[in-house]
Amino acid sequence: MWTKRKFIRAMAASGLVANTPSLLAKANFGHVDTVILGGTFHTMDDRFHAVQALAIKGEHIVAVGSIDDIKALASAPTEIIDATGLTVTPGFIDSHSHPLFTNSVTSVFVGLPSIVEVQNALRKRVAQTPAGHWVVGTMYDDTKFAEGRAINKNDLDAVSTTHPIMLEHRGGHTGVVNSKAFAVAGVTTDTPNPEGGAFYRTNGQLTGRVAEKARFFFLNYGVWPKASRKDNQENVRLVTERMAASGLTSTTEALGTAENWQAYQDSYRANEMNCRVSFMPNSVLWLGETTPFYHVLSDAGIQSGYGNNMLRVGAVKFVADGSASERTMRMSTAYRGRPDDFGILMMDQAQIETAVDDAVKRGYRIAFHANGDVAIDMVLKAYERVLKTWPGNNPRFRIEHCSLVNPSLITRIKNSGVIPAPFYTYAHYHGEKWHEYGSEKMEWMFAHKSFVDAGIPVAPASDYTPGPFEPMMALQSLVTRKDPDGNVWGASQKLTVAEAMKICTMNGAYASFEENIKGSLTPGKLADIVLLEQDPFKTEHDSLQHIKINRTILGGRSTFEA
Ligand SMILES: [Zn+2]
Repeated sequence: MWTKRKFIRAMAASGLVANTPSLLAKANFGHVDTVILGGTFHTMDDRFHAVQALAIKGEHIVAVGSIDDIKALASAPTEIIDATGLTVTPGFIDSHSHPLFTNSVTSVFVGLPSIVEVQNALRKRVAQTPAGHWVVGTMYDDTKFAEGRAINKNDLDAVSTTHPIMLEHRGGHTGVVNSKAFAVAGVTTDTPNPEGGAFYRTNGQLTGRVAEKARFFFLNYGVWPKASRKDNQENVRLVTERMAASGLTSTTEALGTAENWQAYQDSYRANEMNCRVSFMPNSVLWLGETTPFYHVLSDAGIQSGYGNNMLRVGAVKFVADGSASERTMRMSTAYRGRPDDFGILMMDQAQIETAVDDAVKRGYRIAFHANGDVAIDMVLKAYERVLKTWPGNNPRFRIEHCSLVNPSLITRIKNSGVIPAPFYTYAHYHGEKWHEYGSEKMEWMFAHKSFVDAGIPVAPASDYTPGPFEPMMALQSLVTRKDPDGNVWGASQKLTVAEAMKICTMNGAYASFEENIKGSLTPGKLADIVLLEQDPFKTEHDSLQHIKINRTILGGRSTFEA
């Protein structure tokens, strides 16, 4: 018979759990459901070194220890996962993402390596779509095709001249259409650009590329695919399935609408969510809304923290300035080659102050999008004012992206207990875009290392769809700061693998006030676990993104198996 006391004694004797009887006391060693034996464990909990095995009961980790200790907890029905040769880590966390920006049901995935493959994918959908109805492709990236050029109108005309086609860039600001699309909308070479948008032309001819409000122009013409409530529910299943396959166990909806909330609720009730979601309600009016969703929730008495471990309301999301990857964030110095361009502010200081006060009054945590140093300073000012008389614990105000900083901003962020959430895959993935900032500025952009050195719990953030969410690419990007062409962007910001791992696990949990239930392989925490085929600590840094996921476990249930 294995008693708890004997177990603790055995664990203590093996040096695994010295000084931690209180943690083990949380565990209930009756029948355990699953044990993971062998392999290299990185618990991300300093109290548990040299762990060789782990036991799961229900949704939780109940014990960690040596192979013999944990084996002794297994009975006949216990599932045994042999992790020999594998590496076991906590499930990865993404603190800023937009999982539902694209709809995988009503659109064609065109985030493909070549224009030819994009054309083939579109042809399949065209064959199933009535003539004249729109075909939509999402997630292409104009700088990534094997052909070495952007996709254009002619490429899409080769797919169909009877269906209007629109491709949406993964960055969310531009697109490409075919000739039929222009015809349906009555756009000719003579049509002027709409206010706040552009139909791009070369030598007076339309190229097919359209930007900002010119994309919305087409929505008034023809029959567009419309996602049903069921489609939206299915979209949650599909995207969280892809996230689980990449090693994520928690993500964030960083600009949540009523329709998004409904989709997650439906998916949750059907037990189809493959990732936990922290839901940040949107503070601005979205298509068709008359009240921002954050006010709708708040007026119904729902505040940050409402929900359960699968789907929980997080901070309210505000947006202070433009974007890093699309080169519109508000900086104190100009963009390279554009001496009059300092970027765009979406809110002035008074509006930021009002937003912060409103959120505090309504019982909401706050996540403010601020990329450029000017915008970051403005948001910090508002936070600092409120914090002067803050009565309770650190409210963990967040700055989303927090891209361009300097030593004084870092000191103020530290002193205010503010959490920055810079892009974790951008240095690698968007390398070709960083020339417009220049190497000097890049030493202070996505400044993970500066935050770590200052003792700031910087959060892991993909900003998917603009940025890839894959945590293995995040590790490589954070550790090497190297783009696919071998350019290093901001060498002073390189992290160690240990620092990057901590950001992508524990810091992610801290950013959503969930460090007591996830982020490490600790008895009592949720069984959110990833089995990797290589150990990130022993992998060549330039190959980290190729580490294969062997299995992802979410609350004791496998959400991905290779
Ligand atoms: Zn975002």
